[in-house]
Amino acid sequence: MKGRSGPRDLVRPEILALKAYHVAPASGMVKLDAMENPYRLPPALAREMGERLARVAVNRYPDPTAAALKARLRAAMEIPADLDLVLGNGSDEILQMLSLLVARPGACVVAPEPSFVMYRMGAVIAGLRYVGLPLRADFSLDAEALLRTIAAEKPAITWIAYPNNPSGNLFPREAILAAARASPGLVVVDEAYYPFSGGASLLADVPHVPNLVLVRTVSKLGLAGLRVGVAVGSPEWMAELEKLRPPYNVNVLSMCAVEFLLERSDVLDAQARAIVRERAALEAGLDAIAGVTRFPSAANFVLVRVPDGPATYEALKGRGILVRTFHGSHALLANTLRLTVGTPEENARLLEALASILQPHHA
Ligand code: PMP
Repeated sequence: MKGRSGPRDLVRPEILALKAYHVAPASGMVKLDAMENPYRLPPALAREMGERLARVAVNRYPDPTAAALKARLRAAMEIPADLDLVLGNGSDEILQMLSLLVARPGACVVAPEPSFVMYRMGAVIAGLRYVGLPLRADFSLDAEALLRTIAAEKPAITWIAYPNNPSGNLFPREAILAAARASPGLVVVDEAYYPFSGGASLLADVPHVPNLVLVRTVSKLGLAGLRVGVAVGSPEWMAELEKLRPPYNVNVLSMCAVEFLLERSDVLDAQARAIVRERAALEAGLDAIAGVTRFPSAANFVLVRVPDGPATYEALKGRGILVRTFHGSHALLANTLRLTVGTPEENARLLEALASILQPHHA
């Protein structure tokens, strides 16, 4: 026993202070907390995929170049030939690798706040200083403040979620490009919610802006369980990022399934269109409930403010509906809930429950 160290002796204090990414138990619940596509694959397609997966040689390591999957992603996302790709086990891993890539002593990263929590966690884990730039009360970006922060801090990465999570809005493309032009470091545009953004993307800008890197994922399209994300950028930056990639980070079954399903992307594209239609219906329903303030969304979720966020969250949970509460995580998010767009039936249940919680005396 003598002299043996525990985590308190060996782990950096900022990691000891972190909380592991929390995922609420959801068994038996209407699950509207994690921005998943609510639709399963059609059974015939799932069976055909199963037959493909049965032929995969699971005794072998994955193709380390992932040439087939990369070619399929390139075609599906219409990635220009002069850009390169790096694959991640989900885009979460890409974000982590990007943080590690620039983690020189003294380096910092900037992200608007509130935004996706992994930008801050990735910085803490990599030993980078994290600088949050508050959004305005309506979650719009103060473009001048961003330029001032970039000039003052010279961040190695400026993170932009496009659309932003958890607010759901798109910052102006021009403001992001101005930030990239002014920045000595990378500007990483995280387009996780691209399938619902009405085509809004900075992909066409990446070939002209060498410090712009784009991140995409197949998760929100309906393949969250497969864990495949991708960074897109100049060959020069992607060659460095590739060095941080664990050699077999995407497994053979995920590779095969994503290749197969992107060949038939009409199914997933139709599901994404259905989600966008349902988002409009959900928004209209929310606007009809007194006490709900709704923020505009270009994603597959809607952020709302209610008079008592934590109580409403618990009351929804009591009715078997799991959403995400953000109260207490940031001053701008007081009493907010993030509602993932579900199936028409799920959304109807959510609206009915919200109305009865917030307007108990209403007929
Ligand atoms: N970026 C953003 C903005 C997200 O909201 C999420 C998931 N919540 C991710 C990246 C990570 O997604 P995944 O790892 O499933 O690709």
